[in-house]
Amino acid sequence: MLKIIEIRSSSIITKSNLPEADYVINPYVGCMHRCFYCYARFMKRFTNHKEDWGDFVDVKINAPQLVPEKTQKYKGKEMFLSSVTDAYHPLEKKYELTRKILQKLIPLEPDLCIQTKSDLVLRDIDLIKQFENRRVGFTITTLDDGLRREIEPFASSVENRVKALEKLKENGIPTYVFIGPILPFLTDWKKIVLATRHCTDHYMFENLYVSGELWKCTENWLKKYHSNLLDDYRDIYFSDNKFWDKMEKEIEAFCRKQKIECGIYFHHKK
Ligand code: SF4
Repeated sequence: MLKIIEIRSSSIITKSNLPEADYVINPYVGCMHRCFYCYARFMKRFTNHKEDWGDFVDVKINAPQLVPEKTQKYKGKEMFLSSVTDAYHPLEKKYELTRKILQKLIPLEPDLCIQTKSDLVLRDIDLIKQFENRRVGFTITTLDDGLRREIEPFASSVENRVKALEKLKENGIPTYVFIGPILPFLTDWKKIVLATRHCTDHYMFENLYVSGELWKCTENWLKKYHSNLLDDYRDIYFSDNKFWDKMEKEIEAFCRKQKIECGIYFHHKK
């Protein structure tokens, strides 16, 4: 049972810790997409929620009003939506917070970057086109929609994500595909690249990161759906980095050969 709470926030644009973004905007706390690997579940610590991640969403109903009317502060700065929610998860259809935030951001001229797993972003093409520098990325972890339902049950289907990328491209909006998290033995990253090259300008790759409670979530998912891979995942995560080092080199070589622009964001054990 989803618990939805309307809250009033004190700020909405925050400084980013992400490598390529200057600022982030999260119109919601929590996310209905319910990805098993979601690292944003750490946000529970900052709320009073006892529910599982995916079972609650706090809606920052005053978020659009918190975007300032006039300032040069964000001009040319990368503004990322969103880092600990998906700005287009299903509740956005009703609340339209992201849409109203975009309307307020246009005159501030930031470089807009949206990353999502929902084709609801197409609703806002009219606004996104008004940003001189803009790009929209779709996360694609698999082309197999059965696997997608296991890992990201309430996000758009794979087919609809690819169609959305095509639509964005048709509208002159630069796109990227975020291939992550790469799930060992299940994510065929080469196939994803080949299936989306016609509608994608750039690729990002990230491996499955299972520190802290994320290992428990991964283990639960494996036990439920892929118990045959449990030992292999343990080998990968509780030994050295060989598996990921090898994959990283393969991705680099593949992208070089295919003349594909890419960024690789692999987590390595220290
Ligand atoms: S879409 Fe992003 S924020 Fe939402 S549950 Fe999935 S990983 Fe977490």
